[in-house]
Amino acid sequence: METLHLDACSPQSREQAIDEAARLLKEGQLVIIPTETVYGLAANALDPAAVAGIFAAKGRPQDNPLIVHVDRMEQIPPLVKELPPAAEKLAAAYWPGPLTMILPKSEAVPKVTSGGLDTVAIRMPSQPVARAIIARCGLPLAAPSANLSGSPSPTTALRCAQDMDGRVAAIVDGGPCQVGVESTVVSLVGPVPVVLRPGAITPEMIAGVLGECQVDDSVLHQLKEGQTAASPGMKYKHYAPKASVTILRGSSPAFCREVNRRGGEGVCALCFEEDLPHLQVAAIPYGREGDDLSQARLLFEALRELDEKGARVVYAREPHAAGVGLAVYNRLLRAAGFQVETLPEE
Ligand code: AMP
Ligand code: MG
Repeated sequence: METLHLDACSPQSREQAIDEAARLLKEGQLVIIPTETVYGLAANALDPAAVAGIFAAKGRPQDNPLIVHVDRMEQIPPLVKELPPAAEKLAAAYWPGPLTMILPKSEAVPKVTSGGLDTVAIRMPSQPVARAIIARCGLPLAAPSANLSGSPSPTTALRCAQDMDGRVAAIVDGGPCQVGVESTVVSLVGPVPVVLRPGAITPEMIAGVLGECQVDDSVLHQLKEGQTAASPGMKYKHYAPKASVTILRGSSPAFCREVNRRGGEGVCALCFEEDLPHLQVAAIPYGREGDDLSQARLLFEALRELDEKGARVVYAREPHAAGVGLAVYNRLLRAAGFQVETLPEE
């Protein structure tokens, strides 16, 4: 398949790109779209054949459900059994934005979209090109991250093309993603809201609106044998570069000292910008220490750069797992297969 590259960055071609994307989506084709979190591989969420195409293009396991993207509240009632007051409150506070809500699904949502579950994940993105495409095609769009299954999520159109050229009808370039990690997923089907996947809308922000919010065990801990995942995506190997990644817990001096000591052929540091002057090995920074937003924006790109550099052994600086840092740490833990070492401080 020849993949069209549509430029929605320049004002001259933006409208045409949106028109073409909407037309292809209405035909049941796959189109990669920019969102504020990461790029999404979109198809009509209500068309089982189109949605099956998403799973095939990504190589995604069939039981890993997709998020349905809408651009206005009126699109939601047909997708759900009920819209609880908690969902309306969260929508008023954080939509459009990087928050996905799990709700009981209606018959209209095909099982292939919900990964066989009787719930559906819904999000209203804020990225203007994403919103314009959804509005123009008038369809709810299923859109998982636009990477091959297992790889780091793409935050630029170039990274999408590297994974997906030839597998989708079109890629819409909307520039680099502002948030850089996938949306917060919060389940509203139980008595208490539970964060299944952390993102830029933090558990504290949700509790600020609903009075309480829990964080699922799987966010920071590996599932045990036989344990079922509340969020099926959490059980799969994720975001992994080709190198073996170990997170090193410790201060900047302790990290730099240890990495310099272990350095050698194929060793690379995944560090903060402040560490760079103190490292004697190849290094790729992902944001600034103590700046969780910059870390979130740059992490996935840094993981892909490690592969390009041919890194075989990666030592990663541990981010502070608070605020949006919880999402950064959650992704890095999975990239590292949960390997964390605590360094001695001098
Ligand atoms: P992605 O589309 O690649 O960002 O992944 C979507 C994430 O949302 C996965 O981790 C899924 O497990 C999660 N998700 C989607 N739908 C549901 C659902 N109905 N219940 C629980 N988690 C869901
Ligand atoms: Mg994904």
